[in-house]
Amino acid sequence: MTTKQTFLGVNVPKPRVAFFELSSCEGCQLQILNNEATLLDFLSMVEIVTFREGMTEKSDEYDVAFVEGCITRKDEEQRLLTIRKNAGLVVALGSCACFGGVNQLKNRFNDLNWVKKEVYGDHPIDTQEAKPISTLIDVDLEIYGCPIKKEEVEDIVVNLILGKSIDHPKYPVCMECKAKSNICLFDLGEPCLGPITRAGCDAWCPSSRLGCWGCRGPAPEANIKQLLHICNEREIPMERVMDRLECFGGFSESIEQLRRTEGR
Ligand code: SF4
Ligand code: SF4
Ligand code: SF4
Repeated sequence: MTTKQTFLGVNVPKPRVAFFELSSCEGCQLQILNNEATLLDFLSMVEIVTFREGMTEKSDEYDVAFVEGCITRKDEEQRLLTIRKNAGLVVALGSCACFGGVNQLKNRFNDLNWVKKEVYGDHPIDTQEAKPISTLIDVDLEIYGCPIKKEEVEDIVVNLILGKSIDHPKYPVCMECKAKSNICLFDLGEPCLGPITRAGCDAWCPSSRLGCWGCRGPAPEANIKQLLHICNEREIPMERVMDRLECFGGFSESIEQLRRTEGR
């Protein structure tokens, strides 16, 4: 990394950073550009060399690669291998990159050719099962969310630059929700995955009276059985809970287990 800046009088590196997108809506990259209040500070911490959504210049020389999106095409696999070869650190940016995201919903269909026909009609494209990027390359760090939270990315980048450890919250969204004194969605008769989902979004959805859909994946030691018990007690249909658990791909292992035990 090139050393070009100081922090409290100490030289700290200014990493060359590149942003890439595979199959995605590009909403996570947009989040980086969205927060004008801190964008200039962020840009002063790093040297951005590739960021198609924000600039035309490009370079293959970078220290940190942020990869948004999941793998759904052969050419993306080759691109990802090249990114891994060029980068010192690869960061999976957002739920698509970490878990397959909403794209992995198509994996639920048994016949991918039928899916292609329904979606692309007479203009088929080369598309395969949606997979998280860690299925092909080593990933050094995952940043969760659909979309990611810009403030969280900024904190992580500062910690990377200062050589500090990066720790994701170990508690669920409910902790952040309670700290905001929100009314619990369960008390309004709605399902919510807050009890089992990794925190860090500041309870975005429940703070807008929308139940959590689990976009940040499971919190450590998530107790899915207990969540299902709560839903059952409140007569929330299992299908509504399963829709949420399946939405972003973070709970895929638990769903397979659930299906096996319930014979679904
Ligand atoms: S994680 Fe969500 S916001 Fe980010 S690229 Fe995927 S679909 Fe878009
Ligand atoms: S609304 Fe959801 S996140 Fe908030 S306390 Fe209730 S279950 Fe937890
Ligand atoms: S509340 Fe749940 S679905 Fe909403 S942003 Fe947070 S983790 Fe994602």
